[in-house]
Amino acid sequence: MRYTYRLFQQILQLIQRHGLNTRQLHDLAGWTVVVTLALKTGNVQAKDNPVNTSLWTPQPSMSTTYKTSPPIPSQELLDRNLKYAEGHQPKVGDANFGHMPDTAIICCQDCRLNPTKQLGLADFDTAIIRNAAGAVTELTRSILIAQRWGTKHFVVIKHSDCGYFQITGKHLIIEDFKARAKDPNAIDAVVDKLLDLDPPKLSVDDLVLHDVNYLKESPLIFPETKITGWVFDDHTGKIRQVV
Ligand SMILES: [Zn+2]
Repeated sequence: MRYTYRLFQQILQLIQRHGLNTRQLHDLAGWTVVVTLALKTGNVQAKDNPVNTSLWTPQPSMSTTYKTSPPIPSQELLDRNLKYAEGHQPKVGDANFGHMPDTAIICCQDCRLNPTKQLGLADFDTAIIRNAAGAVTELTRSILIAQRWGTKHFVVIKHSDCGYFQITGKHLIIEDFKARAKDPNAIDAVVDKLLDLDPPKLSVDDLVLHDVNYLKESPLIFPETKITGWVFDDHTGKIRQVV
């Protein structure tokens, strides 16, 4: 028990020092349970299992939602594609070139968000434009190309528990990049240009409104182009319209 108590004390200190986000706390909690159980069964000594303070190193976790899996071997990808190709219908040529679907979804790259499946869409119903958090400010080129080639409605979808809301500790993130970089001295010059590590702290609804308004106010968006904003709730699997 003494070691368990010390472990929890260490965790509390880490939280106070680093301001851990929900995901990091979750991983840390999983690590705590593992060590605590091991201590109870007498398999390990606490001094041999210091809490890993690296915020970016994968931690043992009780969750299976985010369990890591090895990369899919190239041969398996080739095999899967061969199976698909047996029933493939070509769509090349003038009749198919340059026709974007009427609707395009703009959303986060998070794999928990699967718009085709979650909205019951058929293949080729929509274009899907993605990046981290589905940030429209970084997707202008893609959005304008879609609009130019026929898309009339952009569906902006944000989701609950998005990594956008968990960006904390800018200096820690930069230090982490430096620790892994090919040239640590080059990081300072580029990190602020490549990464927005201080995004505005908005609720998910306000983030939707922010991006919808950004597009509506853009002089490059046609007056007849429709923009709507939505939130997908990963707890319920349901989507709701914000605007
Ligand atoms: Zn996200």
